[in-house]
Amino acid sequence: MTNWYVPARNGSATTARARAQQAIADAAPLVFWTDRPDRPQPRPRLTGAHTADLVVIGGGFTGLWAAILAKQDDPAANVVLVEAERIAFGASGRNGGFVADSLTHGLSHGTSRWPEEMATLVRLGRENLAAIAEAVERFGIDAGLRLCGKTTVAVAPHQVAELAGLAELHRAYGDDAALLDAEEVRADVASPTYLAGVRLRGVGGLVDPARLAWGLAAVAESLGVTIHEDTRVTGFDRSRTGVVVRTADGRISGRQVVIGTNAYPPPLRRLRHWILPVHDYVLVTEPLDDAQRTRLRWPEAQGVTDAGNQFHYYRLTDDNRILFGGYDAIYRFGNRVDSTLDQRDATHLLLAQHFAETFPHLDGVRFTHRWGGVIDSTTRFTPMFGTTRDRRIAYAVGYTGLGVAASRFGAQVALDLLAGRDTERTRLQMVRRRPVPFPPEPLRYPVVEMTRRALAAADAHDGRRGPWLRLLDRFGVGFNS
Ligand SMILES: Cc1cc2nc3c(=O)[nH]c(=O)nc-3n(C[C@H](O)[C@H](O)[C@H](O)COP(=O)(O)OP(=O)(O)OC[C@H]3O[C@@H](n4cnc5c(N)ncnc54)[C@H](O)[C@@H]3O)c2cc1C
Repeated sequence: MTNWYVPARNGSATTARARAQQAIADAAPLVFWTDRPDRPQPRPRLTGAHTADLVVIGGGFTGLWAAILAKQDDPAANVVLVEAERIAFGASGRNGGFVADSLTHGLSHGTSRWPEEMATLVRLGRENLAAIAEAVERFGIDAGLRLCGKTTVAVAPHQVAELAGLAELHRAYGDDAALLDAEEVRADVASPTYLAGVRLRGVGGLVDPARLAWGLAAVAESLGVTIHEDTRVTGFDRSRTGVVVRTADGRISGRQVVIGTNAYPPPLRRLRHWILPVHDYVLVTEPLDDAQRTRLRWPEAQGVTDAGNQFHYYRLTDDNRILFGGYDAIYRFGNRVDSTLDQRDATHLLLAQHFAETFPHLDGVRFTHRWGGVIDSTTRFTPMFGTTRDRRIAYAVGYTGLGVAASRFGAQVALDLLAGRDTERTRLQMVRRRPVPFPPEPLRYPVVEMTRRALAAADAHDGRRGPWLRLLDRFGVGFNS
């Protein structure tokens, strides 16, 4: 059985490619979520010498939650957050906006990795998402958060059986999970590619990620946090009372530091051993007109992902566009991350072709935005936590493509570790143990490429995992997006 995403090399494939090329021809190389007139004004760069009780590095969800939670713990604390670019510049402003209650990169993955702790991990994940929803409500953050669940669809025959297992697993943990056959899932969202689906209700949902980040930044400031944008941390110096955080034009003598720099070159160089920056790409369409929207059905407008190793994720926006991303996960030699990699013609074209195959009745719809973002994969697909410099610096990085909600949990763990608190969170194996590191270059690149090809081959051959993937599975390692 051939994966349906591999087009036949014939005339119709050439036509499909040309149409996809046309569909993305005018797409702006910009992130839809942050390309808006209501983007907040830039905050000033930090210059000169300052002091703080807590310095937070990174203006994504991890950093923002760390700043907010620290202030909620101790309203008198002097908390300063520094961001190299703008709030939501990183993954937090570029993602699909799926909010998951999973801390373990999904239930199946968590169950295979931490079977004894899974009941606790599931409960903590649900509490984490409930706390996000509560904060959004309490602070009046206008981020379109909807706990609408999601649908996972099978687009190849072997995935149908996998979905039956997934539905059963969710039900075993008390989730509302309905297994749908092809007719039922297509009746909900109109795509001829669907062979089955699992509709999860009340399990996660969707958010407008940039508005969430902007809202959290405003909340942090209302609690007394100082935020500096355009302020890159360049290193740390020791001091008798804490750590001196060096920035391009200034310095902050901090008692403690939280690092939430995700997949970007970390200010603590050693984190590079564990973090693989993987680029993930996204397209957004123009708003659909009423006739197109009716043809699509999708009454509850929940997020959809397909079930391959190389998977797509897609959703509607508030103004009836479709965001369509995923599939390729691209690693560059030497952990390279820079803005020139935010665009990748081959991947954007492939996504446009896959979109047309998924929604042939939307033929002619054009894309207005195209971008890429960088995901921090670990070998075990969940974040790593730790401290250094006599517990003055803590880090929470490595969410592996599922950090919109889990980053709040990560921030809490980082604060627990700084405070030396023994909590249910810090007792978790997932927190206490580090993942296996990735091999160093020049080995890292070929190993990742080999794994990527092996995953694609498994998708194309009924999900059968070849010897390389079976070996990695035996050691419980891999990479993901
Ligand atoms: C395309 C894409 C789609 C995704 N889709 C989803 C999804 O649908 N659901 C989901 O749960 N997750 C998704 N993710 C993952 C999710 O977005 C991340 O896990 C989450 O946003 C991580 O937040 P963060 O704060 O740790 O990192 P980021 O948001 O990346 O923030 C890190 C910040 O640190 C700053 N920084 C870096 N170095 C320095 C320095 N030296 N000094 C100062 N600042 C620095 C960066 O500029 C950046 O703003 C996706 C990611 C991508 C890229």
